[in-house]
Amino acid sequence: MKAEIITVGTEILLGDIVNTNSQFLAKELASIGVEVYYQETVGDNETRLLNLLEEAFKRSDIVITTGGLGPTNDDITKEIAAKYFNQELVFYSDIWENIKSYFEKLGLKPTENNKKQAYFPKDCIILDNPNGTAPGVILKKENKMIILLPGPPKEMIPMFNNSVKSYLQSLTDYKLVSKTLRFIGIGESELEEKLIDIINSQSNPTIAPYAKENEVTLRITAKSKDDEKANDLIKSIEEKIKDRVGKYIYGYDDTTLEETVAKLLVKNNMTIAVSESCTGGMVSSKLIDYPGISQSFIEGCVTYSNEAKMNRLGVKKETLDKYGAVSSETAIEMAVGIAKNLNTNIGLSTTGVAGPGGGTDEKPVGLVYIGIYINGDVKVKKCNFSGSRDKIRNRATNEALNLLRLELLK
Ligand code: ATP
Ligand code: MG
Repeated sequence: MKAEIITVGTEILLGDIVNTNSQFLAKELASIGVEVYYQETVGDNETRLLNLLEEAFKRSDIVITTGGLGPTNDDITKEIAAKYFNQELVFYSDIWENIKSYFEKLGLKPTENNKKQAYFPKDCIILDNPNGTAPGVILKKENKMIILLPGPPKEMIPMFNNSVKSYLQSLTDYKLVSKTLRFIGIGESELEEKLIDIINSQSNPTIAPYAKENEVTLRITAKSKDDEKANDLIKSIEEKIKDRVGKYIYGYDDTTLEETVAKLLVKNNMTIAVSESCTGGMVSSKLIDYPGISQSFIEGCVTYSNEAKMNRLGVKKETLDKYGAVSSETAIEMAVGIAKNLNTNIGLSTTGVAGPGGGTDEKPVGLVYIGIYINGDVKVKKCNFSGSRDKIRNRATNEALNLLRLELLK
């Protein structure tokens, strides 16, 4: 099934609004296996919209439009679609009642203009719009179909989710089953390079890598008439992927890194205390997001100043004088200090230059040390991150959680 998205609206052409409707629809259609090869934007102009529909239906089975269903004169999408399909518009009194009661609820009266919104092709499916006055429309002729949706996202999105999605799914006997593999410690291009032959040789399931803020994900999507077959298809490709890059996978589907780590802590019966400098409590906060963490998480402290590092964690003055607060030596003393203080199996620490100021040639912005003490062993990881203060702190947090995860897996 090939679909095409047409967003109607002069203000999109002028750049006055960002075309989020196309993005939303494209993503949703891909997720249900409807292929989209073209997306267009056209102004509120009769001739150009009509021409575009003619073009679009030469190559696509379904056209989905957003916008131009409003009550004003420049809202013409429905009228043009009816013209293209040679259908007359007729007055639907029940829809008019709905529109009137929508206004009544808001304490308003519809204008004469609004009557236009109660006219529809004789033979069509009308899609309810509980969030506005413009109902959507599905209009079919032979093997062509047009789906008209309102422009405002708060009306369009619920209408798509509540009525259009399942309708489109019902048109195909195929089911799509997806599984997302979540990676950390490997970039998108490196991951793709390692898997390129698998990715390129696959059409069912398809494999799609996505780069996110702190991680990369791979979505495996299988198309089949039954779930079991689809799951088998996914499983066999997943095994191949795991053989090559399994060590970077930390979870599946909606699992978060902190959830994975927290579960490992609890499962291994380990206790942890965290001392943070540049991450300012973010590592602790993420671990505490997991509801079952109380048996493992003992304490987290933000030891930002040198005094706090000395008084609270027992970091030696000589260490700070000789190596500085941002150093592997300090990171180790912080991790060991908090673990010894609280008698935990694990001590985790972060110290770094989050910027934007404070960087030097020797210690640039983005330099972060993560220390870990785990049952008598100590380890430190030096990282060089780039970006804003916010980004550096987020990446440091993730890196600390990942280091902990890797140690717990040993
Ligand atoms: P209305 O009844 O409000 O006129 P409509 O169905 O005629 O709705 P438009 O006039 O095209 O739709 O758009 C109305 C509003 O919806 C726009 O001002 C904008 O805020 C939002 N909108 C329209 N198209 C898009 C789009 N592609 N992406 C994001 N927002 C959009
Ligand atoms: Mg409008």
